[in-house]
Amino acid sequence: MKRAYNFNAGPSAMPLEVLEEAQAEFTNYANTGMSIIEMSHRSPEYDKLHQETKSLLRELMEIPEDYEILFIQGGGSTQFLMAAANFHTKAKAAYINTGVWSKKAMAEAKFFGEAYEAASSADKNHSYIPQEYALQPDTSYVHITSNNTIYGTEWPNFPKFEVPVICDMSSDILSRRVNVADFDLIYAGAQKNLAPAGVVLVIVKKSFLETARAELPTMLKYKTFADNDSLYNTPPVFCIYMINKTLHWIKKMGGVDAIAEHNAAKAKIIYDVIDNSNGFYKGHAEKEYRSKMNITFNLATPEMEKDFVAKGKAAGFVGIGGHRLVGGCRASTYNAVPIEACEALAEFMKQYMEEHK
Ligand SMILES: *Cc1c(COP(=O)(O)O)cnc(C)c1O
Repeated sequence: MKRAYNFNAGPSAMPLEVLEEAQAEFTNYANTGMSIIEMSHRSPEYDKLHQETKSLLRELMEIPEDYEILFIQGGGSTQFLMAAANFHTKAKAAYINTGVWSKKAMAEAKFFGEAYEAASSADKNHSYIPQEYALQPDTSYVHITSNNTIYGTEWPNFPKFEVPVICDMSSDILSRRVNVADFDLIYAGAQKNLAPAGVVLVIVKKSFLETARAELPTMLKYKTFADNDSLYNTPPVFCIYMINKTLHWIKKMGGVDAIAEHNAAKAKIIYDVIDNSNGFYKGHAEKEYRSKMNITFNLATPEMEKDFVAKGKAAGFVGIGGHRLVGGCRASTYNAVPIEACEALAEFMKQYMEEHK
């Protein structure tokens, strides 16, 4: 059967060869006569996979040695809480509000002290990334969201903040080069660019980790995961296995810079249709803040958008409706979405415009 043109926002497309490899060895991992999901997380086979996954991450993202790499369950949403529980240790915590996810992160911080908006893009319906921010005295950290999955904006680059920086990279991790040393804590739910839902990749600076609140339940402490190599309890073995396969695939594609170039080319194909449509398609994000992962746009009316999504679905395009909270249309072009899918969508968009303008 033909693969769908999958533009889902998350969970989302995985590389076909990763799926096929996983399928081929599903009942017999590394000649053990067992599936990876049937064996002990303390077995030598699993340990090898666990260590290799971390070293691939270190290599591909150039993660400095003074950073821990952790695998934690509970999704990005639990990180909103965990980041604040561990690091909201002063009077206040700063959040840059660039949309739904940063707002949700900020709501969790309020359980641990005051949280304030150091900047917000709410005045223009989150169509840009604020370039100015105001930090108040006694601020524990600033929290940012590198890519705003719902609104389709992405930080083009990151300012140097005067306080520790926590970044939610759930929807653009490994899609482009970032300087890990610019951040004190990075977290990313796996289900957009890495693996199935069920694991979050966490990268934390060791010296920052030492400043974490000590009086917390065991499973809420990053330290528990760091001290036990993410094996204090059973890790989500299958998800980590899938991350491993995706990392091998990224490496084969030429690494993060090559992937970034490919992503830019993919996104351009669709943005070009929007920009050359004479306003038939209206891009939501301001150009310099456009996401290369989530392309958001509107048509003249919600009825027309509904029709566009329905006709798109009939033509084989999955997941092109906007987020339920904001409407409109959205094509998510994560790492694993092939360029052919973007070309096909661009063709469909042109054709739809010809028939409806
Ligand atoms: C999807 C997403 C989340 C939420 O992830 P869950 O794993 O569903 O909790 C958080 N932040 C961003 C930026 C996201 O795209």
